[in-house]
Amino acid sequence: MRIVPVPCMQDNYAYLVIDEATKNAAAVDPSEHAPVLAAAAEEGVQLRELWLTHHHFDHVGGIEGIAEAVPDLVIRGSAHDHREKRIPKQTTAHEDGDVFTFEGHEVRVIDNPGHTLGAISFFAEGNLCSGDTLFIGGCGRVFEGTMQMMKDSLGKLRDLPRDASVWCGHEYTVKNLEYAAGVEPENSEVAAALAAAKSKRAKGEMTVPGTIGAERSTNPFFRYDVPTIAAGPDDVARFTALREGKDRF
Ligand SMILES: [Zn+2]
Repeated sequence: MRIVPVPCMQDNYAYLVIDEATKNAAAVDPSEHAPVLAAAAEEGVQLRELWLTHHHFDHVGGIEGIAEAVPDLVIRGSAHDHREKRIPKQTTAHEDGDVFTFEGHEVRVIDNPGHTLGAISFFAEGNLCSGDTLFIGGCGRVFEGTMQMMKDSLGKLRDLPRDASVWCGHEYTVKNLEYAAGVEPENSEVAAALAAAKSKRAKGEMTVPGTIGAERSTNPFFRYDVPTIAAGPDDVARFTALREGKDRF
């Protein structure tokens, strides 16, 4: 299995998940159809499935155009978004913990309510497609869920293997790590990650993928149980202070 990021819109990432043996592919969060179809053509792969982490327009906007070009797509999203009918053409509704097989590769669905109530991540062979729940150095805004939900969702992702790759929905890494550096000015791993991200962006390179292990050392939203990271009597209070601080940053 190989993952190919496809930059879309201002700062979104769609991804091709490619099975090298069959040259069949799934596209994750196609914000736009044109760049995703172009990337599939360039890679010489046939799109079979679309995997949607949540219903926001900058993640599902390319579904209709891809479906026009490619018949019989399997279109996967959460059961919540299926009930709400807010992912166009969704064919398959997943519950937390569902495991499905794509071209022989096991893919696990992880419920991640918080950014939206229907948010999910896809975890396949050490690759996490986390949408707008986990970003490199940060996390998504809490629009539909509660702070407790978002903290718990990030807590689940934090427990994945340390060497798992993180493929997130946006290139927000520099801004996220600038905030993280303010939260933990004495954390040298944050400073190093920020310098590395700035250097990559200056060269026009992407900062994806990250790793779960690196996020555990640098991402404040994985570090809500570090007592000194924010004021508050418990994990939810500290997480809330961190997220509200980022909203104002
Ligand atoms: Zn979103």
